[in-house]
Amino acid sequence: MTSAGTDEIVSLPLVIGGIEGGAESGGTYESLDPYTGQAWARVPDCGTADVDRAVHAARTAFNGPWGSLTATARGKLLWKLGDVIAREADNLAELEVRDGGKLLREMAGQMRALPEYYYYYAGMADKLQGEVIPTDKPNYLVYTRHEPVGVVAAITPWNSPLLLLAWKLAAGLAAGCTFVIKPSDYTPASTLAFVRLFDEAGFPPGVVNVVTGWGPETGAALAAHPGVDKIAFTGSTATGIKVGRAALENMTRFSLELGGKSAQLVFPDADLDAAANGIIAGIFAATGQTCLAGSRLLVHESVATELIRKLVDRAERIVLGDPQDPGTEMGPVSNEPQYRKVLSYFDIARAEGATVACGGAAVPELGGYFVRPTILTDVTPEMSVVVEEIFGPVLTVATFTDEDEAIATANATRFGLAGSVWTKDVHRAHRVAAALRAGTVWVNAYRAVSPSVPFGGIGESGIGRENGIDAVKDFTETKAIWVELSGQTRDPFTLG
Ligand code: NAD
Repeated sequence: MTSAGTDEIVSLPLVIGGIEGGAESGGTYESLDPYTGQAWARVPDCGTADVDRAVHAARTAFNGPWGSLTATARGKLLWKLGDVIAREADNLAELEVRDGGKLLREMAGQMRALPEYYYYYAGMADKLQGEVIPTDKPNYLVYTRHEPVGVVAAITPWNSPLLLLAWKLAAGLAAGCTFVIKPSDYTPASTLAFVRLFDEAGFPPGVVNVVTGWGPETGAALAAHPGVDKIAFTGSTATGIKVGRAALENMTRFSLELGGKSAQLVFPDADLDAAANGIIAGIFAATGQTCLAGSRLLVHESVATELIRKLVDRAERIVLGDPQDPGTEMGPVSNEPQYRKVLSYFDIARAEGATVACGGAAVPELGGYFVRPTILTDVTPEMSVVVEEIFGPVLTVATFTDEDEAIATANATRFGLAGSVWTKDVHRAHRVAAALRAGTVWVNAYRAVSPSVPFGGIGESGIGRENGIDAVKDFTETKAIWVELSGQTRDPFTLG
């Protein structure tokens, strides 16, 4: 993409070392509003020189004023940041909607809840304590320290840029790390605006830096940079594999939050209205563009006809339209390649023999990148629409006859991000929740997340967990310190 100026286009700068500016090359690109298909923002197109500058700034801050702050002082800054975000929540939501096409009604709530992640980890900064460890050696005092890992590269996708960034940044800052952020090429604006808030919150310059760029090069340069100590990545499995390989070249630590193909299991005793509502939320909220989308419905054969009827009825009444309009229930697909990808799966589904119970088409009369909420029945386990992450509003429906079959089918995927169990039987609920191979299982619910609850995947859904108490330790190196207490020397040729 190249720039072409109009007065309506908003220009947003980088923030590197606390200084706002452009890419060294002077290059920019335009970000499109997926509802109108028009350019609305212009952002810097960074190259390796900018990535270098940002990593250097993060290192300088780590070795300088940020590194010498007490943990309590870090916590206070995080709390202040939460307050500043709370004040700016509606502005940030607006930017996310313009860039990503998600509903204002979702993003306003998401941005108003965003401070909670910073408050949660603010309180944890000075509780990250080591331990005194008893050993079999009588003459030693042994204790551990959890030291910040250093400079973290946070690479994020386009579907919830600031929320998924918070899942990395809040814990990492509490641990004492500094950051270089690389938002998705499709949704750079909210992150650029967000990083400007750190100065007001009182953070020293260089603690949080941002680079933006069109295409994979900027992210790849950051992932391969030897000055980065940890990569916290959220995105597709294919890119995650590349990031992991690049990280290993430098022995950089990494965490990967990747794709999913999550199953929703509905048993005969379930409240079918509640289940239908949860299934609609799981696959059609956010136009299905969430990693945790419940894209595979597995329903007991005895209630399948009734449940499918409820789902089709609700799906056909979903209000598509302007994401800014509070009455809209489903916005456009977020960008053109993703739109083409979703449409291609409609053809694939028909060619492979699935039945289109509803949807299965674009909505050209709305402009932008709209597709209809789609439900595919008569699917079989090997079909592409059942195996692959579509990342759009497409639900596949298969039936089962007993619990073992339901669990086996749910687990027959290389992903393992999330899933749900719909039943009123408390024994079955816990039994099936335990048997599902996934990082998150909801019982009679779907699509709930919290700062205090670990989130992450199994298999091709990723490596590591974000959120919760333990996530902060993933941004540290544990150091064991042995203090000799006797003052004696010992045989130098034995292991102590
Ligand atoms: P993507 O993998 O295309 O891009 C993610 C980020 O990586 C972007 O910033 C991109 O510019 C950057 N990137 C691209 N190539 C790179 C490279 N070679 N090296 C380093 N960085 C590179 O993903 P996307 O299309 O933006 O996002 C959708 C995907 O994200 C879906 O698969 C979805 O399931 C996943 N996702 C996962 C979670 C989770 O928490 N598990 C949450 C949201 C989205």
